[in-house]
Amino acid sequence: MKVTIQLDRSLGDHDQPFASTDSVCGFVNLDLPHEDDVTRITVELSGVLFSSVVATAINPLASTEHASDKHKLLYLCHTLFPPPDIHTSPKGFSLRKGAKTFPFQFCIPILSACDDDKITITHLNATLPPSFSVTGPNKRAISEMKYWLKVTVERPGGFKSDIIEEQELKFMPLDPSLPPPMLEPKGRKNSRNILPETTSPGASLPRSASQHWDQHKVALEVTLPSPAIIHATRSLPFQIFVFANETSAHSPPPAILGTLSVTLLTELTVIVGPNSTTWTTHHPLLSLTELRIVIRGLIQPPGALCGGLWRDCIVPDLTPSFTTCTHMQQHFIVVTAGISRGHAGRIQIIKATINVDLHSGIKPAPHSTNLSEFEQLPYIPWRVGHLGISRQARSTSGSAAPPAYC
Ligand SMILES: [Zn+2]
Repeated sequence: MKVTIQLDRSLGDHDQPFASTDSVCGFVNLDLPHEDDVTRITVELSGVLFSSVVATAINPLASTEHASDKHKLLYLCHTLFPPPDIHTSPKGFSLRKGAKTFPFQFCIPILSACDDDKITITHLNATLPPSFSVTGPNKRAISEMKYWLKVTVERPGGFKSDIIEEQELKFMPLDPSLPPPMLEPKGRKNSRNILPETTSPGASLPRSASQHWDQHKVALEVTLPSPAIIHATRSLPFQIFVFANETSAHSPPPAILGTLSVTLLTELTVIVGPNSTTWTTHHPLLSLTELRIVIRGLIQPPGALCGGLWRDCIVPDLTPSFTTCTHMQQHFIVVTAGISRGHAGRIQIIKATINVDLHSGIKPAPHSTNLSEFEQLPYIPWRVGHLGISRQARSTSGSAAPPAYC
């Protein structure tokens, strides 16, 4: 007996993954070369989160031991055979030789529903996480989320084993619903004294000079519309400002912006019980040198750098930000400005880091969602732990976290 799963959409590397509210539908095909007995045929759609992290060593010799954990965040099951009005029989039912087809359909929910009841671990009733698989440096942690369709053909008696057919599905959650656009822009500012070459940072300035200490200060500010969101494969929506405290009477050589770089940081945290590890991966987005921009001359609007500098800068197609039972993935934009006093001065660095939520921009597949063209998408909750949103969904009660914006 041969079992195959036939989906109504293709699953190639370049095909769109399944999204929340999408339907997973298709057929289970049975090919029987001869008459055979079957007790039951089921199809399951499941999503399993596996996490493993180096355990806190009680015995130093056992320092490489891992603590691991498995959470089933999605589990849906349909019985395809026998029909609902016929009771299953331990003796099974005889199916004739030939091809048999059983249609099935699942609707992928928005929220995860963890079936794990360990009280020492927080189970988040958050959005189902995307498919992913990551390994930390030196294998300090492994974490993966996989979605599967699984067909089981149960057969009577102890001599014939069940037949199992599996198919992995790629999944991407829909982005959180946006709040009304009425919040202040989100920004991060950092500043430092950019001293002339003749003044070392540690040296105490003469009294007359220290009165004008502030005139050495240069500030870097990065702002994004709030909430701070960036989208994979799109340009960066931020503004960058550089301010120099300079007066004409006592000014040192003018502050010059010589270099500008932008990096996207992905911070991953895996937590299993009392054990956790966090690591970051760096994605350079922009690196400009030889800019020679006089900061005092940035007046339209004051301090703003021309957005054309990062016009070609595209956010890479990375796994979006998410939080689930044992794994959190956050993103940060780091802007680094290299500033000197005068064109020949030594470059000194100022950094500004801003926490952003990376969205995929995925939409439900046309003709694959249960929503009609005119129906609005349901509310998609914000990801807890991101952008200052607190962990309010600490329960297995089934209630969704209320939205909270900071
Ligand atoms: Zn869980």
